Amino acid sequence: MRKVSIFGATGSIGQNTIDLIARDPTAYHVVAVTGGANIRQLAEDARRLRAQIAVTAYDDRLEDLRAALAGSGIEAAAGSTALVEAAARPADWVMSAIVGAAGLAPGLAALEQGATLALANKETLVCAGSLVLETARRHGARLLPVDSEHSAVFQALVGEDMAAVERIIITASGGAFRDWPVERLAQATVEQASSHPNWNMGQRITIDSASMFNKALEVIETREFFGIAPDRIEVVVHPESIVHALVGFRDGAVMAHLGAPDMRHAIGYALHWPERRELPVPRLDLARLGQLRFRDPDPERYPALRLAREVMARGGLSGAVFNAAKERALDHFIGQRIGFLDMSDAVAAVLDRFEDAGDLIDAPMTLDNVLKTDHLARQWVDDAVLRRAG
Ligand code: NAD
Ligand code: MG
Repeated sequence: MRKVSIFGATGSIGQNTIDLIARDPTAYHVVAVTGGANIRQLAEDARRLRAQIAVTAYDDRLEDLRAALAGSGIEAAAGSTALVEAAARPADWVMSAIVGAAGLAPGLAALEQGATLALANKETLVCAGSLVLETARRHGARLLPVDSEHSAVFQALVGEDMAAVERIIITASGGAFRDWPVERLAQATVEQASSHPNWNMGQRITIDSASMFNKALEVIETREFFGIAPDRIEVVVHPESIVHALVGFRDGAVMAHLGAPDMRHAIGYALHWPERRELPVPRLDLARLGQLRFRDPDPERYPALRLAREVMARGGLSGAVFNAAKERALDHFIGQRIGFLDMSDAVAAVLDRFEDAGDLIDAPMTLDNVLKTDHLARQWVDDAVLRRAG
């Protein structure tokens, strides 16, 4: 039996992962499942999967979790230290599907115990790419992509030599506002930004798709995961979300990965890798689709893409700053304290402030420095938002 753990089990990726694992209960021994405030879901999944331990991110929910697990023999724990301890429990395969930088420390702990880390949490590579890759190498652990674009690239590269790769093209649906007039974006509401044309995902990544902060994170993730130069990474808007990514080779050939927009494909590929097993995803009917469209992203509509280029050029801890500022700006947008376009303005301002602050961004990439930088970037977004309000 393979030992598996699922971090962020109660979320969108987590639930899709459980859907696959629960289809084959004799194949897996579930070590840990984790979640946030949705204790009922977490306890139900822990019982169904017969997990060893269930962990909620929130200390004040421990008693509720204990009560929900009463009589099951499943351990209950709470808080960020408990998450890291659960990740350190031996497992062969660990799904990293917490949302945000909170996924970084558990992911590192899983790599340190040698697990294969299935990485949905793109923030891990954006915040601490070289640290994460170095940790994996040192412990003989493997990282597998779960983000659909990166899984697509990974699959297109099977049997290929990275030296023959000319460029990587990741597609973007364009999100909720792709057809809105740019002048209307400033007025976009949280509710409008929270509906995705093609994918059913958590609220935060859905809003990040509308602003293309999600694609901005993915460009940086591509750079880190595949070790490719930033100027060889392209983004193309593809409203149908059928082609997930393409790899261009030096002989002019381009390999594309196509599939229905269902995350169980990328999750299942990472779960069964290096095999390809049957997966319960819809099959494509290209004749019925009729056409696939592609266009360049409009830089005015999506300033996040330009910011990602600046971050890649800057290097160091600027990825951690970028992600943290984005997360905090998103909190303020969801809290209706700032508007949709204010998010990219806030992130740009915090990146500038770090540039002026001297060498903070050039500190060595340790977990401690990443977390300190993350904390400061969030504080500086708060300062800027408070100043505006005052
Ligand atoms: P989600 O909001 O549906 O679920 C997030 C999970 O993380 C939940 O289990 C939640 O309880 C937990 N969580 C939230 N805050 C936490 C914290 N501070 N500490 C510990 N746990 C916390 O999110 P999602 O859509 O499943 O996305 C998860 C990750 O996967 C994100 O990094 C996202 O960018 C990435 N991703 C998601 C999709 C998708 O289709 N949903 C696709 C590609 C990549
Ligand atoms: Mg993606």
